[in-house]
Amino acid sequence: MDQENTQNPNNPQKKMIVGWFSFTCSEDSTILFTELLNDHLDEWKKVVEFRYLKALKSKNSMEGLDVAFVEGAISSDKQAEEVKKIRDNAKYVVAIGACACTGMPSASRNAFVSDQINERICMYMKNFNYSDKVKKLDEVIKVDDMVNGCPMNIQTFLETLEKYLKLFNII
Ligand code: SF4
Repeated sequence: MDQENTQNPNNPQKKMIVGWFSFTCSEDSTILFTELLNDHLDEWKKVVEFRYLKALKSKNSMEGLDVAFVEGAISSDKQAEEVKKIRDNAKYVVAIGACACTGMPSASRNAFVSDQINERICMYMKNFNYSDKVKKLDEVIKVDDMVNGCPMNIQTFLETLEKYLKLFNII
């Protein structure tokens, strides 16, 4: 799907500009999303420009997004900075999957007590500059919508996508 989705001058159809981002998670919602493309790509590419979708494209930009879908919890200062940049570039942000919506299960380590934090865990935390606490998305940025589920609930995702396509007067 490595195609430039710039608007075709012969096709004045307006498109919703979308980004799909993953942070600390197992990326199962990304896998589900790519599975959905098997059935919906032809329909979606008429109305959606996938401007940032690293799982499927090599050229990506987060400039001027209408909707950013963000999967995963935020587990480092670097990730917090990145997601704030996404927020600054998107009119709407939708949290995707339980890790983004609630923090869990990615935030399980927040419940560790100090004698459970062994040398190996300390080494990982230090090497990857992880924060002390893993955060759900709305602890770091404003979130406009949530698609809960582990992985995301497909029906809710489809309804949310449709909601924004209508909001932008595209369908
Ligand atoms: S919500 Fe579940 S499926 Fe999604 S990233 Fe987290 S652990 Fe994986």
